[in-house]
Amino acid sequence: MSKEKSTNKQILAHYKTSEQGLTTEQVTKRKQNGLNELQEGKKDNIFKQVALHLSDVASLVLLFAVILSTYLAATGFEKWSQPLIIGSILILNVSISIYQEKSAEKALAALKDMNVRESTVIRNGIRQTIESKDLVVGDIVILSAGDQVPADGRLLTANNLTINESILTGESEPVEKTSAEQELTKELSQRFNEAFSGTGVVSGNALMVVTAIGMDTELGSIAGLLNETEKKKTPLQEKLDSLSKSLTSVALIGGVLIFIIGFFFRGFDLSSGLIMGVSLAVAAVPETLPIIVTISLSYGVIKMSKKNAIMRRVNSVETVGSIDVITSDKTGTLTQNQMTVTKYWVPQNAPAETSTIISKDSKEFQLMRFMGLATDAQVKEVDGQKVELGDSTELAIIHWLQKAETTRAELEKDYPRIDEDPFDSNKKLMATLHKTPYGKYLLIVKGAIDRLPVQLSDNENKQVQSVNKQFARQALRVLAVGYTLLDEKPTGPLDATKIPVKLAGLIGIIDPPRPAAISAIEKAKNAGITTLMITGDHPETAKAIAVQMGIAEKNDQVMTGTHLNDLSDEELQQNIKNIKVYARVSPEDKIRIVKAWQANGSTIAMTGDGVNDAPAIKAADVGIAMGITGTDVSKQAADMILTDDNFETIVTAVEEGRTIYQNILKAVEFLIVVNFAQLFMMIFAVAMGWGSPLLAEQLLLINVLADGIPGFYICREPSEGNNMKKAPINRQTSIFADGLAQRVSFRAVVFTILTLMIFGLGQFVLSNSDIHFARTMLFLVLALGSMIDIYVIKSRQPLSLQTFANNTALNFSLGLTMLVVVSIATIPGLREVFGFTALSDLAWVFVIISVFIPAILLEINKRWTLRRETELALSE
Ligand code: ATP
Repeated sequence: MSKEKSTNKQILAHYKTSEQGLTTEQVTKRKQNGLNELQEGKKDNIFKQVALHLSDVASLVLLFAVILSTYLAATGFEKWSQPLIIGSILILNVSISIYQEKSAEKALAALKDMNVRESTVIRNGIRQTIESKDLVVGDIVILSAGDQVPADGRLLTANNLTINESILTGESEPVEKTSAEQELTKELSQRFNEAFSGTGVVSGNALMVVTAIGMDTELGSIAGLLNETEKKKTPLQEKLDSLSKSLTSVALIGGVLIFIIGFFFRGFDLSSGLIMGVSLAVAAVPETLPIIVTISLSYGVIKMSKKNAIMRRVNSVETVGSIDVITSDKTGTLTQNQMTVTKYWVPQNAPAETSTIISKDSKEFQLMRFMGLATDAQVKEVDGQKVELGDSTELAIIHWLQKAETTRAELEKDYPRIDEDPFDSNKKLMATLHKTPYGKYLLIVKGAIDRLPVQLSDNENKQVQSVNKQFARQALRVLAVGYTLLDEKPTGPLDATKIPVKLAGLIGIIDPPRPAAISAIEKAKNAGITTLMITGDHPETAKAIAVQMGIAEKNDQVMTGTHLNDLSDEELQQNIKNIKVYARVSPEDKIRIVKAWQANGSTIAMTGDGVNDAPAIKAADVGIAMGITGTDVSKQAADMILTDDNFETIVTAVEEGRTIYQNILKAVEFLIVVNFAQLFMMIFAVAMGWGSPLLAEQLLLINVLADGIPGFYICREPSEGNNMKKAPINRQTSIFADGLAQRVSFRAVVFTILTLMIFGLGQFVLSNSDIHFARTMLFLVLALGSMIDIYVIKSRQPLSLQTFANNTALNFSLGLTMLVVVSIATIPGLREVFGFTALSDLAWVFVIISVFIPAILLEINKRWTLRRETELALSE
């Protein structure tokens, strides 16, 4: 049976369901067929993963070293320990990479689960909300505007239903849907009586019977494609990749150079020359860096989620740190969304406070009645508890009615509602039609005064404008209400803009700012981030709140949607930096605001909650959706979801993003210097004829063990506190900006000189030309010395007790790694395996003193640079 051609009755019978929905037994049985979930793209098997990790340049060179040293051991030129050690390190490196990648993926999958999607269904004849993943074929789903369709289904009813199917068809215009029977077609865009998983309901409502779930849906068939798009590298990862490539090339050139010098001038035989050249090249590559970056970003995702910001893409963590403009909705994000009617006005009277008592036969009560009748909010009793339903503007009216001891239900007893045109934030109006006790029809239109279809004399108009301004300047949201009595019921769908009405009055509603948002705006300002306010409210109301909150100055410009539409894209781009507040704008205008800022080189974050906000959220560098009030469609388009709908959370996430970025740079500084130092030291020592200062396996021990493991824990460094006192990180600037190049060169020079001195001292002064003795000293100084440096590197502030105490995981890993390093170099039996030997007491004294020298010099360099920076800042 083809589902498209069938009647509702046939389709329900086919899926063994009814309009009352499935029974509990049917659901339990059908659940055995699996959950309504998309499976992640097919994972590579373990062999493929290993092959993938082995195919990067560093691992390839390492593999080459294993093969070569195995050959050398088999032919008796080398000990077997060498290929074994290099091989173990290669295995360790690949295993860590695979393990880390797995745990990063797991963390992300767990976060995706936190963003649970729900559906409204009818089961056992009862309407209920369930997790979308528990839907089964045959379920009856209720769809309404703002929902994301949770599964594929055939429509049983459809009222003004339009659905945006761009995710499947690429067509951005919403498609009108119907429940009518239709000819069979495979063409998705022509299947008007079906709704598809992942698409967004733009308007209307519908009942749908689920026909396919999970991977059987149309979305399921392209799910593989969707997963792939998430794996793009961030600008930072790309910069690090190219850094790694340059380092590999330098290392390879160094390797070739050493080989040539050793072979032609120092009498190396071919085999030892070869293996030293290759192992040096390997040792000079920071193998652990890419893994550390991935872990840092995933760790950022986890930390942000604990602070109420759920990142939907790992890569956005970095972008969040670069935000320099945050464009925020007013109601609920910057303000408390706790609305209260405080003022009202009826024509010819003076404005009054809502604390005054209103008699039931006055003009004032008439205003209250019209407001109450044209309200959709209500207070309901559920399980003996009072539950408030509706948006906060309307609930403010319900509370006002309570002050006069009346309710919407009581008002509707005399004036039952028979038709309506729901509130639309583009029209900024809504209308309701009521039957009167005298057989006439009462039309009420409620909304923004500048949109109300009301005719006023010049004098009346002057009075209205003056009251409107007076309310707005006190940061009140102003609602107007008009009415008219009709003899006949209007034909066709009711339209709030069409029929002229008489003005009944205005009310002023207060929505206090969130105190935490005010301090967050100040914090953002200090961090070089501009906060902008977007609202559907009147420009005067918007400006009054913006000034109260520190977003705008008294003389700053406010732009209205109308003004915005008069400007060309170029004009908007030129003026955009002067405008802090956008009032009476529609969601469609938001996208132009985003593009104008981006054209000026900004990294912009944009909040939104409605279906129409999705394109602007998508266009922004960081699209932010509201977790509580946001629609599924807006969440789906977003990079970040605020679980508390709070502006402060955005600023906290920016701070977190900046910390993660700084920590990655610290890991770069910590890791690559040792690689540079090893390279220079080897080239110099071999050129001088001192022999190879470290063996291949010793170099690798330092890179993977001494540097790699503590390097992982740098990503857990807390924020340095001054992160939000600096300008945003520009995504285009080099990672070596901001003094990193100077610090890296300084430390590389210190280590090269120190290690060469130790090597010379060990070989020619403290021992009788014993190269193993010298290598043991050098190994300990380089490994332990670079580890101690981590404390100087991890903070840009001078060393303090706090620097040592604030990262327990790092301290612990460092302690353990130091123990392993010292054990390898000292425990008899073990040390010989790695080419080490026992040291004299005097040598130990030199080692112990030397391990602290780099840290001391780095700290002096840091303090000197900081002082110079302060002097420069003061002299400016
Ligand atoms: P914000 O950006 O601050 O969250 P918004 O964009 O959601 O605000 P709207 O809800 O579109 O703003 O409100 C814009 C204007 O529409 C209000 O100033 C008010 O005059 C009018 N308005 C808001 N809610 C209603 C309603 N329920 N009924 C009638 N008019 C309303």
